[in-house]
Amino acid sequence: MNNSNSPMSTHAPSAAGSHLGQSEASFTDSDHDDAVRDGCGVFGVHAPGHDVPRITFFGLFALQHRGQESAGIAVTDGQQFGLVRDMGLVSQVFDEDALTSLHGSIAIGHTRYSTTGSSLVCNAQPLIVETRFGPMGLAHNGNLVNTTTLRQELEAFGVQFQTTTDSEVIAQLIAYEAKTQPSLIDAVKAAMGRMKGAYSIVLLTHDTLYGFRDPWGIRPLCLGRLNSKHHVLASEPCALDVVGATFLQEIGAGELVEITDDGCKFHMLAEEARPSMCMFEFIYIARPDSHIYGRSLHLSRRRMGQELAREHPAEADIVIAVPDTGTPAAIGYAEASKIPYGEGLIKNRYIHRTFIQPDQRLRELGVRMKLNPLREALSGKSVIVVEDSIVRGTTTRNIVKMLREAGATQVHLRISSPPYRWPCFYGIDTCEQNQLLAAREKDVAAICEHIGADSLGYLSVEGLVRAVSLPKNIFCLACLTGEYPIEIPAELKVSKFSLEDLSEEEQLALCMPTNS
Ligand code: SF4
Repeated sequence: MNNSNSPMSTHAPSAAGSHLGQSEASFTDSDHDDAVRDGCGVFGVHAPGHDVPRITFFGLFALQHRGQESAGIAVTDGQQFGLVRDMGLVSQVFDEDALTSLHGSIAIGHTRYSTTGSSLVCNAQPLIVETRFGPMGLAHNGNLVNTTTLRQELEAFGVQFQTTTDSEVIAQLIAYEAKTQPSLIDAVKAAMGRMKGAYSIVLLTHDTLYGFRDPWGIRPLCLGRLNSKHHVLASEPCALDVVGATFLQEIGAGELVEITDDGCKFHMLAEEARPSMCMFEFIYIARPDSHIYGRSLHLSRRRMGQELAREHPAEADIVIAVPDTGTPAAIGYAEASKIPYGEGLIKNRYIHRTFIQPDQRLRELGVRMKLNPLREALSGKSVIVVEDSIVRGTTTRNIVKMLREAGATQVHLRISSPPYRWPCFYGIDTCEQNQLLAAREKDVAAICEHIGADSLGYLSVEGLVRAVSLPKNIFCLACLTGEYPIEIPAELKVSKFSLEDLSEEEQLALCMPTNS
């Protein structure tokens, strides 16, 4: 729902919306960064008597790494709903005026990186829809794979959509099911029976905060306690720490938590939960100071580096990281290899999304806007550089070139994850398969040549699983193995695979002629 047509009280904040909201083709640091891009972060708080919009602001601030395109907060005082959302970082969308315009006892918030629907202000979240039980706010992390089918079905029933997101499809589906179900929880359960894909969701009604996860549990969602009697939901525990809440538990795959003045109630809504947590949350996405399934992300990444050192040793003078995400694995590599760890690349700490277009000369400098080599540490040295993943390979190639120009005599590249060969359909934005370097160049030696490194080693799937020390079968590893835990419909698959990569059956499903 757009601010301008919302029946709820809203606030159009600062300059951020007025000019940033117009730009669909904005330049970001991601334009010269071929990393896996995060999906979204969600946050919710039920705390009567507390400044819940401010708590949500700081919760979203801690989840900024999960999405930098837009941010929003919806709040209710039990009667009215308030909503502020706009394009930009949390700190750009919310100023003191925006926060003080919101009042209530329950709030939800969202930071977004678009995976379905364009990067437009109308697609920012939370969104608010009317249901038989009253207004309902919703914020979603993840991506449905059957959005098109569900949307067409709902449109056939007369539902009109305001946005192009799968999140609105979810909200409208719950609202549609609410027409015939005895409670909102039953409506969510009925909707869950029809939705396929990844969704960790916080829901807001006039008196209740809900949080629930898809039956595969692909994206994280956790519950915390605030001031001994209130509750907080967040994509990651790091957001609980920031607002002074203590971690209670993760919401299980297919589970819903209902939070009211009387406390929390848990409901298992999925008949068959099949946990398939995104392994990239462990490798890269979640903050290192978070923990998932009881595992510290920082320690898991350090162990990935240790496994990597055992699988792919190299002789060198120094181990450096591609900061920040490669840092824990580089420390682990140094620990296991007994080669000293040091800083070799300095990250511009203050870089974030900018909507200012660089000129051609600055574009050519590319990665240097974000990373600059430390010549004193690199000159005359043989260097092991540890990165968490390679997607397209353009940034990695530039980094290797930059290290050589700074005087490194040898550059040995080590990647703390297996080759990224298949696109993600579950809420992480990656390019088409033919743009993935490891899909184009199947041979590691060919990838190494393309990157320009002296040697290249990827962590194996087995080494990765050992590092997180959890059973392999509770993870989604689809982008590393091609085994998708939730079937991808042919009409979606064709958006990221070339037609000839689809099976004959899938091609037929698209009503296209097959090669045979
Ligand atoms: Fe995560 Fe990869 Fe699975 Fe996507 S395909 S959910 S990025 S493990």
